[in-house]
Amino acid sequence: MASMRAMVLERPGAPLIACERPVPTPSTGEILVEVAACGVCRTDLHVVDGELTNPKLPIVPGHEIVGRVAAIGADVAGLAPGARVGVPWLGHTCGVCPYCRGGRENLCDAPLFTGYTRDGGYATHAIADARFCFSLPGTTDDAETAPLLCAGLIGWRSYRMAGEGRSLGLYGFGAAAHILAQVAAWQGRRVHAFTRAGDAAAQSLAKSLGAVWAGASEEAPPEPLDAAIIFAPVGALVPLALKAVKKGGRVVCGGIHMSDIPSFPYRDLWEERQIMSVANLTREDAREFLALAPRAGIRTTVTRYPLAEANAALADLRQGRIQGAAVLIP
Ligand SMILES: [Zn+2]
Ligand SMILES: [Zn+2]
Repeated sequence: MASMRAMVLERPGAPLIACERPVPTPSTGEILVEVAACGVCRTDLHVVDGELTNPKLPIVPGHEIVGRVAAIGADVAGLAPGARVGVPWLGHTCGVCPYCRGGRENLCDAPLFTGYTRDGGYATHAIADARFCFSLPGTTDDAETAPLLCAGLIGWRSYRMAGEGRSLGLYGFGAAAHILAQVAAWQGRRVHAFTRAGDAAAQSLAKSLGAVWAGASEEAPPEPLDAAIIFAPVGALVPLALKAVKKGGRVVCGGIHMSDIPSFPYRDLWEERQIMSVANLTREDAREFLALAPRAGIRTTVTRYPLAEANAALADLRQGRIQGAAVLIP
């Protein structure tokens, strides 16, 4: 029987372990994907570190999968072996709960998430629910495409939640912000990039991607912002961002986990400022963003790691040593 390799989390807080397993067979409605690249997302860190509770264990992390269809289960429409596909975080929804019925499948009551509650892409092969995979054009680089599958898609949902304002702040200039800065600049918005104090590399990357200003998160931007999106998992940024937005401005928390938000005076929220969170994605978000990305000329900056080096990639992300996005190559 053919075997596959995977990096497996057996318990939160432990390093991933390299495993060999039989290649699984797709069930009804599923496809087997031969993974070409899988992005490393901050959410993977939250799973590995135990900040997201109740993962399936053992679990193969990874939810920014680019690969090719290797086998197809029964009742799969529209995908053939060899087709290039992307597999995102939203791995399955129930289809019947009020959120699914109401066009908000990102809030489904009984979802499955790739690399969290179903096995993901830190592997040579992965099983996916075909209805939640996206066809990808064959013309782009696998590794450079992988970050679009979460940093791009959930970044895009966060970006839309931020509204139409022209002056936008991005707190935490990692994988998502480096994609969104390009979208915003392409749309003629003024992007202000906030990084850790002294992170000259991230600030210069931000400026090279169209940001009009880059500085430390504690600094006041040169103009009041219409909206800010926080991608760093740091609750203390919420009151800082509130001070940076103008009346009626929005602060969008784009991550799945954040440290506690410190208390702040009500006057910082007053005048119809809003704090919002973004949860997951809908397939509609994905279709919109994947159509827009080539038009906007999105280019990603990636650091490639061999699959077996997944622990090193996670450590580098944890320490803020990655420019743009880390990607595992099996
Ligand atoms: Zn549902
Ligand atoms: Zn992610």
